[in-house]
Amino acid sequence: MALTRLNSNKKIAERISSAIVAGNVLHAYIIEADSCVDKLAFALEFCKALMCTEKIGDGCDGCINCRKIDHGNYEDLYVVEADGMSVKDDQISKLQEDLKKKPMGSRNLAIIKDADTTTVRAQNRLLKTLEEPFPGTVIILLSENRENLLDTIKSRCVIYRLEDVEAGSFNQESAEAVFSALEEGKNFHEIKGILSTYLKSREDAFALLDGLERIYEGFLLGTDSRRKLHRKEEIIRCIELIEEARRDLIAKVNYQYAVKNLVLKIGG
Ligand SMILES: [Zn+2]
Repeated sequence: MALTRLNSNKKIAERISSAIVAGNVLHAYIIEADSCVDKLAFALEFCKALMCTEKIGDGCDGCINCRKIDHGNYEDLYVVEADGMSVKDDQISKLQEDLKKKPMGSRNLAIIKDADTTTVRAQNRLLKTLEEPFPGTVIILLSENRENLLDTIKSRCVIYRLEDVEAGSFNQESAEAVFSALEEGKNFHEIKGILSTYLKSREDAFALLDGLERIYEGFLLGTDSRRKLHRKEEIIRCIELIEEARRDLIAKVNYQYAVKNLVLKIGG
């Protein structure tokens, strides 16, 4: 699988891909998702996209670098995972030593699994590396809940939240259903009925927001002919409201509340 051919989280994958192609890769990322999402697989695709010799920004699965990353024997990639309940200080210390080594290729890479279990002491140690990274180094922190990470760490990372779109019952079709109900000016009670059929989990809520955002973005990009129904300012306002709801979800606001609040704001 290559980064841009992933079936879910396409938007994030595309963003990362174009950053790599443009040479705008930053040195630290937080990849956050619920436990059911394979964050490591995503991070490995990220690494392949960085190091692939055939399809930079994507990964080809066939070149020596892609194959080594897939097989877990790429020399410049260091993977750390929790030792017992947490990632400990000596593990971060060891990682720092590893990252000081001159890479065999163009850069050193690190993936810290269970980064949100890292002890505070170890996080403070890691911070030094994030503050003064060795040139070219990319560190990817995998996390279920970034609230466990120090603000000083978060502020030095680009944060992406992956969604488990497959697991949810919400799909683009149900997002369309909610969208149409809003368009037709259906009352809140009716829309709540649609939501109660599909909205069963936080993942569903994230998927719904993604679906709605896709629809509104289609208007902005002119790929959706229904665009003429809307003024640009209205569309932008809706996208902002969706992003606000997504921030609420990430902050662990009750997902039903966050979605109903959004529907009321868009509808009103
Ligand atoms: Zn490759």
